[in-house]
Amino acid sequence: MSKSTDQSAVTVLGLGPMGRALAGALLDAGLRVTVWNRTPGKERELVDRGAVSARSAAEAVAASALTVVCVVNYDAADAVLRGEAVTDALKGRTVVNLTADTPDRARDTAGWAADHGIRYLDGAIMTPTTTIGTPEAVFLHSGPEELYQEHRAVLDALGGTHTHLGEEIGRAASYDIALLDVFWTAMSGYAHALAVARAEGITAREFAPFAQGIAAILPALFEEFARDVDSGSFSGELNPITSAVSTMAHIVHASESHGIDASVMRATEGLARRVVGLGHGTDGFIRVTELLGRR
Ligand code: NDP
Repeated sequence: MSKSTDQSAVTVLGLGPMGRALAGALLDAGLRVTVWNRTPGKERELVDRGAVSARSAAEAVAASALTVVCVVNYDAADAVLRGEAVTDALKGRTVVNLTADTPDRARDTAGWAADHGIRYLDGAIMTPTTTIGTPEAVFLHSGPEELYQEHRAVLDALGGTHTHLGEEIGRAASYDIALLDVFWTAMSGYAHALAVARAEGITAREFAPFAQGIAAILPALFEEFARDVDSGSFSGELNPITSAVSTMAHIVHASESHGIDASVMRATEGLARRVVGLGHGTDGFIRVTELLGRR
């Protein structure tokens, strides 16, 4: 069997919490799994479960047609992949890079792979380690469709849903950063809200069910705002941005009266005020997207 087509073996480079979860799911699916990590020791439990521990990254990638990479960022991925011995061993094989970083880093790595005869897919994992190997896991992929289909069976062994977003190699990372933008700004808002609530004598436990009520409003708003942004019409008939700005100012004042840093909320208020200043006060909040898109 050619080194690019054997689907029964897979290598995992990077054994942080996510790399270990990926390797564990592949073992559970009955694949021959070879693992390697920069710092030895993290492979022990996987070896007990049947994984082969390679002595070097080059030896690891030589063991399988497909190598899954999952390290902290693309600086780390480059440090592992672009060593001469690893690059040589990867020639004619496939790399699926599930490391998170920017779309440009994904494009750069694809260029490097093409220059060295390495078949390359990029991807992103949108769910925590505990979901890997379960139906809850969510994976995004981009790169050559044919290559994706060729390795689909191994990718499916990771569990969950896999979406191929297109041939443009940066696409998965583009979704990843935009989705993580939603996540981390929401987390900042929640952290700030908990601090304000606590200053007012409300425990986090008391507050959480009501915060979940707010979260439940968001899916419908995401749909509505998507229609507004794609159509370029931002009706604020039921909730004009002038009204939203007033609410934001209350939050800033209330939190600062307790000595709580309101910089995240101030940034949001500032954007909304700029929209009003540009004469769009009767539009809805999502008009801010247009403002941010101004060159
Ligand atoms: P980390 O993001 O902490 O990555 C740890 C891994 O990166 C270890 O294998 C570590 O090796 C390796 N590493 C760091 N620097 C280098 C380097 N210079 N050279 C070689 N290897 C290096 O942990 P995770 O496993 O959780 O995350 C891996 C990727 O998965 C990240 O891109 C993350 O964003 C993504 N992800 C993680 C999720 C999670 O819930 N954990 C969820 C979704 C995506 P060593 O042990 O030697 O330090």
